Amino acid sequence: MPAPALRHIEEAARAAYPHECCGLLAGIRATDGTVTVTRAVASRNLAETDTRDSFEVDPQVRFDLMRALEAAGGREEIVGHYHSHPGHPAVPSARDLAMAYEPDLIWVIAASGPDGVAEVRAHALDTDGARFSEIPLQITDGATYGSPSGSQEGDNER
Ligand SMILES: [Zn+2]
Repeated sequence: MPAPALRHIEEAARAAYPHECCGLLAGIRATDGTVTVTRAVASRNLAETDTRDSFEVDPQVRFDLMRALEAAGGREEIVGHYHSHPGHPAVPSARDLAMAYEPDLIWVIAASGPDGVAEVRAHALDTDGARFSEIPLQITDGATYGSPSGSQEGDNER
């Protein structure tokens, strides 16, 4: 994940405190399973219960992002989302697990507090959907992104 995307998530988490922020992550999936995040896009938190301990990404934001990614040539896709845990660690909650129904998405969670963001961690749903496992989150300077490949990769949207 490029540093600007991480900063975006940290700032969104800080601004939303004590409520949860949320948003989507676009990126590129490598055949070896590595996911390279290219951008983070903020959403309103549409959770109807309590936005201090739950989140719901605006479907319109998702729709707009999908269209933008298609227009950009289709290499990028929605690879995950982020949200914050105000006053709680950056690990998925029971509610998160109950809401996780897309096994391909990565979950980036920022632990936010009154003094800012303590940590940001990434998780993925196990193949059986029963639990989350933490995945390594590598921060790059963003310079490796956007190198024009020239050739069309074909459409491998999924
Ligand atoms: Zn959560």
